[in-house]
Amino acid sequence: MKRAFLTGLALVVATFVAHAQAAPPAKPVAARPIAIVIHGGSGDVLRANISPEEDAAYRETLTQGLKAGYAVLEKDGTSLDAVVATIGILEDSPLFNAGKGAVFTRSGRIQLDAAVMDGATKKAGAVASVEHVKNPIALARLVMERSPAVLLVGPGAEEFAVEQGVALVPQSYFKTAKRYEALQKKLRQEQAPWVPSDPSKGHGTVGCVALDRQGHLAAGTSTGGLTGKLDGRVGDTPIIGAGTYCDDATCGVSCTGTGEFFMRCLVAYDLSQQMSLKGLSLQEAAVYEVQKRLHDAGGPDSGGLIALDRQGHIATPFNTRGMFRGWVDASGKLVVALYGDEKP
Ligand code: ASP
Repeated sequence: MKRAFLTGLALVVATFVAHAQAAPPAKPVAARPIAIVIHGGSGDVLRANISPEEDAAYRETLTQGLKAGYAVLEKDGTSLDAVVATIGILEDSPLFNAGKGAVFTRSGRIQLDAAVMDGATKKAGAVASVEHVKNPIALARLVMERSPAVLLVGPGAEEFAVEQGVALVPQSYFKTAKRYEALQKKLRQEQAPWVPSDPSKGHGTVGCVALDRQGHLAAGTSTGGLTGKLDGRVGDTPIIGAGTYCDDATCGVSCTGTGEFFMRCLVAYDLSQQMSLKGLSLQEAAVYEVQKRLHDAGGPDSGGLIALDRQGHIATPFNTRGMFRGWVDASGKLVVALYGDEKP
């Protein structure tokens, strides 16, 4: 009996020693990869629809957003802080369909959706149909961190914002002439379908996924939705698993496109599942979602996504003609691209 016990003990000790010897030394924190990827919406992003001045302005703002998030990561900040900082910059720019410059609903209102998710804890926060919140992504974070809810909508979300000390802005803050024109065009087109539709299709939703030095991922998305949407319509953006999802074990994802298809296909969650259940790589899973599942459900032109994993792999597939996108990869290289034929 005693002998058996001693042999067992020796075995356990031997296994422990062998493991300790075999385990690779933990990487020093400074050597771990950091990375960030963003999108500014998908759609008919064609040179024919974008003037050289607009092209330059989009690139500059995407670069500014990327640099702000990357600076947080470089200072050993969290991926969550990086995502919220980056998206906040894009929300404040009138170029994108999020925050200032968001698209109009059918009745001429602005109704904003946003979500954020933390890959380490798998906690998430989201807001939908908010009309007076300057930075919906920041409110989504407050929902995650300071409320028992995952998703707050409309007036309730705005009451929560006020309780949390978030200043509200009037609807006029968000409204731009360009988006107003797009709504008029859309309404005219419904009366007369032969009139060419707005080539921008209201694209410009923004999203970001970041990887910090602790190896944690975070993902976020913010949007005004689709031009001329029914008042009260909520898209995929604030629906966890549809337009936004994040899990340290697989990846972070932020989607853009016609939200209804992303909701029916649960694109962001399914991408993560393709990795964990089928063992697909990030790139394989991302391409499968966009070129197969989304394409089959919504056809070409249904949208795109950005995804990032813990190793710093980045995927940015889309089935539209272009997607505003950019990243800083694990080697520190910054890339910004707009069109489908740009192969950075
Ligand atoms: N996915 C967004 C929505 O359907 C719109 C977009 O990404 O352009 O609300």
